[in-house]
Amino acid sequence: MTKGIYLDNNATTRVDPLVLAEMLPLFSEHFGNPSSMHGFGAAVGGKIEWARQQVQALLGAAHDSEIVFTSGGTESDNTAILSTLEAFPKKREIVTSVVEHPAVLALCDYLEKKKGYTVHRIGVDGKGNLDMDAYKAALSENVAIVSIMWANNETGTLFPVEELAVMAKDVGALFHTDAVQAVGKIPMKLADSAIDMLSLSGHKLHAPKGIGALYVKRGTRFRPMLRGGHQERSRRAGTENAPAIVGLGAAAELALHHMADENTRVRALRDKLEQALLAKVPNCFVTGNPDVRLPNTCNVAFEYIEGEAILLLLNEHGIAASSGSACTSGSLEPSHVMRAMGVPYTAAHGATRFSLSRETTEAEIDAVIAVVPGIIDRLRKLSPYWSQEGAPKAFEPTYA
Ligand code: PLP
Repeated sequence: MTKGIYLDNNATTRVDPLVLAEMLPLFSEHFGNPSSMHGFGAAVGGKIEWARQQVQALLGAAHDSEIVFTSGGTESDNTAILSTLEAFPKKREIVTSVVEHPAVLALCDYLEKKKGYTVHRIGVDGKGNLDMDAYKAALSENVAIVSIMWANNETGTLFPVEELAVMAKDVGALFHTDAVQAVGKIPMKLADSAIDMLSLSGHKLHAPKGIGALYVKRGTRFRPMLRGGHQERSRRAGTENAPAIVGLGAAAELALHHMADENTRVRALRDKLEQALLAKVPNCFVTGNPDVRLPNTCNVAFEYIEGEAILLLLNEHGIAASSGSACTSGSLEPSHVMRAMGVPYTAAHGATRFSLSRETTEAEIDAVIAVVPGIIDRLRKLSPYWSQEGAPKAFEPTYA
């Protein structure tokens, strides 16, 4: 295993050894095709149904048949939106938010530019809270689907999706939420909510990459994205990825078991890290809404330095964190989420995300607290925006 302190769990998590142990027999002993009419197939089919029930329990869904296994968060997001547009061909409007993951935003851009749909992208305030007035104004009977994330991957800020879903229902729109970051970290009871569809991804909750699920509430009009065999009740064709499905089931069971720990011990570690950084490092602040967010996520903007440089120096100390989201950190520009919140240019560049998991220990957090202030100090001494006297220079660059 790579040695070091891994605080990039919103990018991906380590497969739990118990999850791996559940998966392994599916490669060798239980290798049958679940659609086959013999014992080899039936053994695997039974395990897939067990996994479905674990995901149902984690989501608090009413029926296990509401869970459709997919290849991950991106496929689930795309399926939810495309299915709804096909099922309601006369409705040509989509409502989403400006801070969604590219799995939703890029699809919406495509639908707008190439297919002529109208996309309402709802903005956020300085703390990443959704503009509720703009949301209400965008809703109408022309809206086929609202797709708004439960938790933001960069800041951990939570949107009030249950309330948003009720409002969407009032105008006859379906409500989908990308809950890839939220599932397994906060309790859910979808049976009691107006949410029609929800996306989740295995690799964010200690299951493997390339497996996920789409929750589709019973009675929701649905059109499959992949057509072929009758797997997943004809909602997602293709021979099931049985080992990964069983892994997701095991991970869901474990997530439910560890939910209280996530919301107490992990939350306390996150708070300890954050408070220490705020106390020890001048000119930094928390981005997003510190009061309404995931228990594991902390995003601190260190002003007047580059996030990439912070990550490189952290990496030299064996510490893995992230600037923005893993998907956007290939570019040097601040992320769309920082921009949407109006985080000043000189701070957005230094936004650094630390995302913990149930595997994070207090000793690791103490080690990070011991190292980060020195790194920031070293980089500020090299920064053109920082004076030798230890204060920002008056010059304030802005976004292009
Ligand atoms: N949605 C959100 C909020 C995410 O954070 C991610 C992954 O980073 C995805 C969707 C995509 O999920 P997957 O990697 O399983 O396709």
